[in-house]
Amino acid sequence: MTDVLAELHALRAGDLPTHGGRTLAYVYDSGLSEVDEIGADAHAAAAGTNGLDPTAFPSVARMENDIVATASRLLGGNADTAGSVTSGGTESCLLAVLAARDGRPDPSLVLPSTAHAAFHKAAHLFGLRVIQVPVDPVTFRADPAATAAAIDDSTVLVVASAPSYAHGVIDSIPEIAAAAADRGVRMHVDACIGGWVLPYLRRLGEDVPPFDLSVPGVTSLSVDLHKYAYCPKGTSVLLHADAGLRRGHYFASAAWPGYTMLNSTLQSTRSGGPPAAAWAVLRHLGDDGYLRLAQRVRDAVARIRAGIEGIPGLRVLGDPGSTLLAVASDEVDLFVVADEMTARGWYTQPQFAYQSSPVNLHLTITAANHGSEAAFVADLTAAVAAARALGPTEVAPELAAAIAALDPETLTAEQFAGLLAGAGLGQGGGLPERMAPVNALLAAAPPRLRERLLLEFLGTVYR
Ligand SMILES: *Cc1c(COP(=O)(O)O)cnc(C)c1O
Repeated sequence: MTDVLAELHALRAGDLPTHGGRTLAYVYDSGLSEVDEIGADAHAAAAGTNGLDPTAFPSVARMENDIVATASRLLGGNADTAGSVTSGGTESCLLAVLAARDGRPDPSLVLPSTAHAAFHKAAHLFGLRVIQVPVDPVTFRADPAATAAAIDDSTVLVVASAPSYAHGVIDSIPEIAAAAADRGVRMHVDACIGGWVLPYLRRLGEDVPPFDLSVPGVTSLSVDLHKYAYCPKGTSVLLHADAGLRRGHYFASAAWPGYTMLNSTLQSTRSGGPPAAAWAVLRHLGDDGYLRLAQRVRDAVARIRAGIEGIPGLRVLGDPGSTLLAVASDEVDLFVVADEMTARGWYTQPQFAYQSSPVNLHLTITAANHGSEAAFVADLTAAVAAARALGPTEVAPELAAAIAALDPETLTAEQFAGLLAGAGLGQGGGLPERMAPVNALLAAAPPRLRERLLLEFLGTVYR
């Protein structure tokens, strides 16, 4: 047994660090080791239970009801609010769309361009059309008038973010929700990433605009507990203004000889581990704990933002109102900066250009960044200087031509292999140490082609 665990730990050594604030995407670290311990112990205590049948495992239903009640209290719910505990933000967004889908024939979804890709996945899975609305090119905030104008007789759901993942910008929820309500259409607030930190930032005196279920016209809201609630991965909450709105994502089937399958979410068998872990962490930290963590993350964001604004050649995109920053540059190759940061032990997440949004580096800042802001800014300063000295990564003209000739609709595995070989990225060896040449190549591909290229890549990762 110790051998397999040793092997697991050896495998884990190749991962990005999950603690210490050095990984500025994917992981959310409270910086408090007892939070991790309580989460892990609670997870272990309930991992074998099955949320599939709440009568067999009432503890899971009880904990989920407690979690929904806590989320509802924090996020403007009232006595009518109903909810579901899901496996993550994507599942919460999928269920919000599924619950709304059958409202009209040939249903469509109105999305600001900054809405999370989870909503495109929902449209893909559940057969809705996406009406995508460009956001303001300077603030990256959803355009309420354009969003309202995009609503038509086929719209079943309008989405806005609090905040958006890409830029950390909080959309004008009251205006968008009012426009949806005027047309009798549901409105979902994607607070997956901000929902557990914005209320506390407001209590600390930050100017947080109204975004939650108390805003008239908001019919559902998603909030991920595995983000700023600092719970182990695998838990999110979808709140609905009332239980009737939730009904459309419930599912039952008695059309077989087995048990009547009865599901509140996409999963059927569901481990009680993640909800138990979340329940325990929420109880352990409580309002006071989250307020203290929000204070730490607020200070870290302010220091890192000020530091970035002091580095010549860098700028923060838009008007971020939460704990995420998108850092752009007109002077240095940010893919090279990301590599230079990797070399200095920091993971920053490259984001490709899309519509008015230029290439940028995404930073998810958490409480664990508190205390090392100066070290981050010093390394970023050095990384920018190094990138300036190295110059931008050029895509070889023959590679650019090869990409331009590819048709995303007909791309084959052979063409993809040829492209990899042409880029000097043969099979087998994992990722290169420096990703800038790969990112430059991907940036040269239009979004639809980039999707196909990366899907081919995924096919080589999983055998
Ligand atoms: C993270 C995130 C999601 C998706 O959540 P997952 O837990 O990764 O599935 C959706 N919306 C926003 C705004 C997010 O930040």
